[in-house]
Amino acid sequence: MEDTQVYYVDVLLPLHLPGTYTYRVPQEYNGEVQVGARVVVQFGAKNSRMYSAVVRRIHQETPQWKSKYIMAVLDTEPIVTERQMEFWEWMGRYYMCSPGDVMAVALPAGLKLASESAVAIHPDFSGELSSLTKYELMVVQLLTDHPVMRVVDISRAIGIQKIMPLIRGMIEREIVVMDEELRQRFTPRKAAYVRLNDTLLSQQQAADSSPNLGEQPDSQLKALFDDLERKKRVKQVEVLMQFLQLSHFGKEPVAKRELPQGSALQTLVKNGVLLVEERIESRLKDYSDAETTDPRSIVLNDEQQAAFSALHSPLSTHLLHGVTSSGKTEVYIKMIDEVVRDGHQALFLLPEIALTAQIINRLRKYFGNRVGVYHSRFSASERTEVWHRTLRGDYQVLLGARSAVFLPFKDLKLIIVDEEHDNSYKQFEPSPRYHARDAALYLARLWDARTVLGSATPSVETYWNAENGKYGLATITKRYGGYSLPKVECIDMKEAHRQKMAKGHFSVQLLEAIKDALDNKRQVILFQNRRGFSLRLECDDCHEVPHCVHCDVSLVYHKASNSLRCHYCGYSIPVPQECPACHSTHLKMTGVGTERIEEDLQILFPEASVARMDLDSTLQKNQYLEILSDFEHRRIDILVGTQMVTKGLDFERVSVVGIVNADNIINYPSFRSFERAFQQMTQVSGRAGRHGSGGRVIIQTYNPHHQVIANVMDNDYQGLYEEQIQERRVFRYPPFYRLIEITLKHRDADLLNSAADWMAMQLRGAFAGRVLGPEYPLVSRIRGLYLKQITLRFERTEPIADAKRVIRQIGDDLTKQDGHSGITLIYDVDPS
Ligand code: ADP
Ligand code: ZN
Ligand code: ZN
Repeated sequence: MEDTQVYYVDVLLPLHLPGTYTYRVPQEYNGEVQVGARVVVQFGAKNSRMYSAVVRRIHQETPQWKSKYIMAVLDTEPIVTERQMEFWEWMGRYYMCSPGDVMAVALPAGLKLASESAVAIHPDFSGELSSLTKYELMVVQLLTDHPVMRVVDISRAIGIQKIMPLIRGMIEREIVVMDEELRQRFTPRKAAYVRLNDTLLSQQQAADSSPNLGEQPDSQLKALFDDLERKKRVKQVEVLMQFLQLSHFGKEPVAKRELPQGSALQTLVKNGVLLVEERIESRLKDYSDAETTDPRSIVLNDEQQAAFSALHSPLSTHLLHGVTSSGKTEVYIKMIDEVVRDGHQALFLLPEIALTAQIINRLRKYFGNRVGVYHSRFSASERTEVWHRTLRGDYQVLLGARSAVFLPFKDLKLIIVDEEHDNSYKQFEPSPRYHARDAALYLARLWDARTVLGSATPSVETYWNAENGKYGLATITKRYGGYSLPKVECIDMKEAHRQKMAKGHFSVQLLEAIKDALDNKRQVILFQNRRGFSLRLECDDCHEVPHCVHCDVSLVYHKASNSLRCHYCGYSIPVPQECPACHSTHLKMTGVGTERIEEDLQILFPEASVARMDLDSTLQKNQYLEILSDFEHRRIDILVGTQMVTKGLDFERVSVVGIVNADNIINYPSFRSFERAFQQMTQVSGRAGRHGSGGRVIIQTYNPHHQVIANVMDNDYQGLYEEQIQERRVFRYPPFYRLIEITLKHRDADLLNSAADWMAMQLRGAFAGRVLGPEYPLVSRIRGLYLKQITLRFERTEPIADAKRVIRQIGDDLTKQDGHSGITLIYDVDPS
C-alpha cells in the first residue's frame, strides 16, 4: 500500500552552520529516504544553491516554519553511518565548531557535489558514447565545448531540474570529474615503460628454453651484446642486463624509472634496442593475487613478547614506548592479526603520508588486499572509492594519515596511533582543528575498541597518563636484532669556525662522516628544518630586509625559482638587484635552508647523488614517493630535508644522520619547544644504523651545553620527561591544564584591538584569572589580516563543556555587534 503520510528530514549541510535543517519529503520519495544517505536540498540566499546534504533524522514532527521540499535523493543506501554522525557531533562540540564544519572535512570531495561544483570531462574518459543516455550525451557535448562548467549552468543549458543525480552517476562512472579534483593537479597515472624491440624479442623467445644468454650463440640479442662489448659500451651492457633481469628476459615491460637514468639508456632507445611507451597505471592497485605471509610466522623477541602481553591488560588504552627500530611495527602487526582473525577491523594511523609508503608494504605483506589506504594526497576519486569500499566492508585494516579517522568503519576493534607524539596529527586549517590521536581515543570509545599509542619519544601528556595508570604501559628498551642505538656526537659550531674546522655550514666532523659513509656505500640523511635557499636577504649598508606586503614576516630566498617568497601566503617577487630602501647593491644572504644545503653538498661531494625532500620538492602528487623509492633503491646517496625526513622511515643502509642546526629546532617559541626538539632530534637519529653498521649522528649547534642536547645524546627520555612535567606543573600547562586559544583577525588593527579588548573583558567577567591576553602572536599579520590572541586555561578537573558554550556565546555576541561584525574568530582547543 502506498505510504501517503507526510515526512520530514533533518539534514546536515557541509557548511559552517550551527545545526541541522528540516526539509519536507515529497511523497514520491517516501520510503526511499534513509538516514545517512544524501539528498539534494536548496539552501542559502534566494535558495539559489543546491547541496548534497546528509539525512540525520526522519520524522513526522511538523516544523515551526514552513519547510521546503528536498529536490532529489542521491543515495539509496547510507553513505555515512550513525556512529560517524555521532563522531562528527562530538568533534563539533569538543573543538568548538559545527558538525557541518566537520562534515565538510570528513566527506571526500567526490561525495559533496553541489550546484556550485564545477565539473569537467574525466581525463580518463574513453570517449565511448554509445552507452550514454540522452541527457548524459548532452552533458558530454556541453563539456566538450566548455571544458569546465558549474552544475547549475549545465542544468540551465540542458533544461533539466534534477541534474545532481545525473551528474552523480556520471562521476561514479568516471565520465566527468569534479573540479576540486582537477585543482589537485589530477593527472591520470601514466608512466613511461620500456620494452625490448620485438625483433630481438621473438628471437629471444624462440630460444627461451634456457634463459642463460651465453648458451644462445645465434640469438640476435647475443650478437648485440657482443657488439656492445667489443665497442666497450660498458654502461649500455649494464643497463641492458638490468633491463633483462627486471623484464624477465624481455617478457614484461619495465617502468623506466626503475632503470639507471642516463645517456646509456638514451642511446639504447635511440638505436631502437629498447622502446619507450606510455602506459596508464591502475589507480587502486589490485592485491588480490599477491601472496601473503601468515602474521603468526613473526617471532617476537623476549622484549617484544613481553610488550605484546602488556598491551593486553584490562585497560582500553596503552602506550607502547619502544626505542627507534625496536620493532614496534611487528608488535602492531601481531595486535592487528588478532583482530583481523576474529573478523573485526583495525585502524592504523600515521602522522605523515610520506610514511605510509613503507608501512603499506609491510602491512600488505601480511594482510594483502584486506588493507585499505586513505589520505589527503589521494585524488578525490580515489578517496571516494576507498570510502565506498570501506562501507561495503572490503577492508579489515585501514591505514592512513589523520583524515582516516573519518572513514565509515563497520566493526572497529583496534586503533593504532603510531608516532603518537607527532605534531602532524593536529589539523591547523581549516576548522575542525582536531588532534587525530585524541579524536581516535574518542572514536575507540564509540566502538568499544582498544587503542595502542606508539612512540620512541612519547608526548609528555601521554606519558603522564601512562605513569598515572590511566593508560597501560609497555616498554621496549633495545633495538631489534641486538643492534645498538647510534652514537650521537655534538659539535660546537662556534669552536669549529674559530679553529677553522668548518666549511660553510658543515663541521669537518660531519663532512668526514659523510665521506666515510659514501666510501662504504652507505647513505646519509641531513635534517634542516627550514626550506628555501637562504632565510633572508639583507642590505649590508642599511640592514633593510625585504618583507611580505601581506604578512609580518621576512621573505625567503628560493634559488630554483630565483624569487623571494612568503611562507605564510605564497606572495613572491623576483630577487631585487639593489636594496629597495637605499639602493645599495651590497645584499647578503643570511640563514640557510634545505635548498642551500643540497647545493653545497653537491659541490662538496660531486660524485654523490644528492636529493632534497621538503614541501617545495614534493608539491606534485607522488613526488615524495619517487624520492623515497629512489632513496630506498640507492639512487640517492644523501637525502636533505625538513622534518619530512625525520620520521619513521626504515632504510637499511643509512649510517650517518646530520642535524645541520639544532638551535633552530630548540628555539621554537612554544611551551612544547624542548619536548619537540628532543622528539625531532631523537627521531631523525633513529634513522641511522637500523640494521647494524654502527650508526653515527652528528648534531651541530652553537649551544652545545643545552640540556635537551644532553638528553638526546644520552637517549634520556626519562630525564627529558621529568624536567618537562615539572615545568608544565609550575607554569600551568597541559596535562595539568587545558588550553583554549582564541584568535581574532581583521584587516583594521584598531578595530581588531577594540574587539579583542571587549572579548577579553567579557571572558574575564566569566572566567576571571583563567584569561590571558589579548596579545599579538609571533607573526602578527597574515594575508593582510592582523591577529590577536586570547588564551584560556582551565584546570584539568574543571568541567569544560559549559565553559566552551559560554565562550562561544561571547564570541557570537561579539560578531553581532555593529562595529565588530567583520571580525573572524578562530577557536583552537588544545593548541599545540
Ligand atoms: P620501530 O617501528 O620500532 O622503529 P621497526 O618495526 O621498523 O621499528 O623494526 C625495525 C626493523 O627490525 C624492521 O626492519 C623490522 O622488520 C625488523 N624486526 C623487528 N621485529 C622483528 C621480528 N620479530 N622479526 C623479524 N624482524 C623484525
Ligand atoms: Zn639598504
Ligand atoms: Zn605573506
